[in-house]
Formats: sequence, structure tokens, C-alpha cells
Amino acid sequence: RTVLRELTGLIIINPNISPSEALPDTDPSVFHKRYLKMMRHLGEGHFGKVTLYLYDPANDGTGERVAVKALKQDNSQVLEGWKKEIEILKSLYHSNIVKYKGCCTELGGQAVQLIMEYLPLGSLRDYLPKRKLGVAQCLLFAQQICQGMVYLQSKRYVHRDLAARNVLVENDSLVKIGDFGLTKHIPEGEIYYRVREDGESPVYWYAIECLKENKFSFSSDIWSFGVTLYEILTRCETRLSPPNVCFDKMKEIKEEKNVMVLIKLTIDILLASGVARLFCNEFFPLNQQVGMLMEQCWAAEPAKRPSFGSLIEMFEAIRQ
Ligand code: ADP
Ligand code: MG
Repeated sequence: RTVLRELTGLIIINPNISPSEALPDTDPSVFHKRYLKMMRHLGEGHFGKVTLYLYDPANDGTGERVAVKALKQDNSQVLEGWKKEIEILKSLYHSNIVKYKGCCTELGGQAVQLIMEYLPLGSLRDYLPKRKLGVAQCLLFAQQICQGMVYLQSKRYVHRDLAARNVLVENDSLVKIGDFGLTKHIPEGEIYYRVREDGESPVYWYAIECLKENKFSFSSDIWSFGVTLYEILTRCETRLSPPNVCFDKMKEIKEEKNVMVLIKLTIDILLASGVARLFCNEFFPLNQQVGMLMEQCWAAEPAKRPSFGSLIEMFEAIRQ
């Protein structure tokens, strides 16, 4: 920065130096479209699409691999939120949060593309079903998610979309939180964010007060963390996924074809049983301690849920 300021000063004093010669474009957060070589599709969610590119200015295959996130369609409705998502990621720096690298404005469309570090093993949803991961390693991942969340909360953000599909895997012993598409800032002195826009909501990961009153807080992230922990311990097995367990429950209750009735029924089931408690019945004699910890995350009263800080301590104790 200082060098840049001095150079700029020089140019002002000496207008014969052309800016393009004196100031080569070396801002490392500016990615040029012409150097981005598409490699493969990595994944997508409701709004975004993530693709692996090789950023190769030398054009000899020695470049670095980066993950590029773009909006699926750039309509103006989601554009504001997209800019916010980029700003938020840019402001975060923690070993358990995916790293922002920069932007590319030339990749077509009016919306910029977000360039992040590439995590070679994909999301927990891609990774877990393929490995035979031991409980200790699962708990290490869970603890790392909590560490990222403590940092996020120190910046007064609620993530609002904590789920295995949004946790990325660097290697067998390191995960990072990704996807800040629904993240909101909670102003100092307030305790929750109330959502106004309707969108597609990850309801199976939502706390009671989110479903009932659209209230999102640090405590509702804890609830979603509980569901994420459930996903990790079931190794993201499709048959045991939160939506599937809920559908099974619905089938037990009633054979019902009408979509609206089904949706209503889903919400009722989620509310009545505290979502994920129902997932656990068959699953958790496995690890009593972890089962109890999960229960605590799903306390009906938000204030009764543990904090991410205390969860870290509990995981440390259990892992020993
Ligand atoms: P959306 O906001 O649409 O849900 P995400 O940011 O969650 O988009 O990304 C969608 C999927 O793309 C993820 O679930 C994951 O599989 C993959 N992905 C996202 N970011 C990366 C990354 N940095 N490295 C590797 N894979 C990624
Ligand atoms: Mg996502």
C-alpha cells in the first residue's frame, strides 16, 4: 500500500510516466478471465454454482486451482444478497472458514464471481459417505466447526445455513465452514435477526423459533449445528438424512397426496418432535455423551442451548 501511494505521488509529480507502466496490475485479489481455465463442476445449492478453475497466468499449467462461485441466474432480486455474501467472506479470516481469494468481474453477466481457495475433498456430504471415518475423527470435525463458529459469532454474524453440505473438507483432519449466502449481521445489543424475505429455507436444520417466528440468533445456529453433528455421525448416509427421516415419519402418520397438506404436516412434525430428536431414536445408544450433547443443542428454549465455546470444551473432553 505504501509503495502504491509513493508511486502515485511520483506520477503526480512526473506526469510523463504513464500509469500503466508505473503501476502494473498486481492486485492479487483481481482475477482475469483470460487466465481462468475451467476444470470441472464442484457443486451447487439454491442460488450458487461452484466450479473448479486453474488460474494460470503463465499459461503453462503451473497455475493454482481455485473454486469459483457464481450466481445461477443474475436477477436483481438476489444480486444484493450476493454482494453481501462476497463482502462477508472477504471480511473473515480463520483456519476453519474457507478463504476468500478475490473476484473476477469479467466472467460474463453483471454479477462478479467469487474466487475462493479450493478444498479438494468437497463438502462433508461428498466426503463422509465414501470414507469409514471413526467417531474420534467425526468429533474432531465437529469441534473445528465450533471453532469457526466462535470466530463468526465474535463478528456478530449468524450463519443460518450450517449443514454438512456447507462444510468443506481440506484433508482427513481439517474442515472449514463455507457458504455464507444466508449469513446476517446482528447489530450490537440485539439478540436475533428476523427474516423478511421468503426464500427456500433449509427447514430441517431450523430451530423451533426459526420455523415459528423467523427469529435467527446465535442459539439457532447451535440448533443447526446439532443437526450437522447428527449428519456427521450418520456419515451423511442418504437414508438417514434429516429430510428423509422426516418423510418416513410422515408416511407412518398418513398416506397423503396433497402437497400443501404435506408441507403443513412436515412443519407440525418438526415442531412437535424437535426435528432431529426423531432422527436419533434409532441411532444413539452409539455414543451416549454425544447423544446428550445433541439433545442440548435442540433445547426448545434458545437460552438453554450450549454455546459454541462450551461445545468445544465438551468435544475436547469426550475425545480424550
Ligand atoms: P450454495 O450457496 O448454492 O449452496 P455453496 O457455497 O454451498 O453454494 O457451494 C455448493 C457446493 O459446491 C458445496 O456444497 C460443495 O460441494 C461445493 N464447493 C463449494 N465451495 C467449494 C470449495 N471452495 N472447494 C470445493 N468445493 C466447494
Ligand atoms: Mg450451500
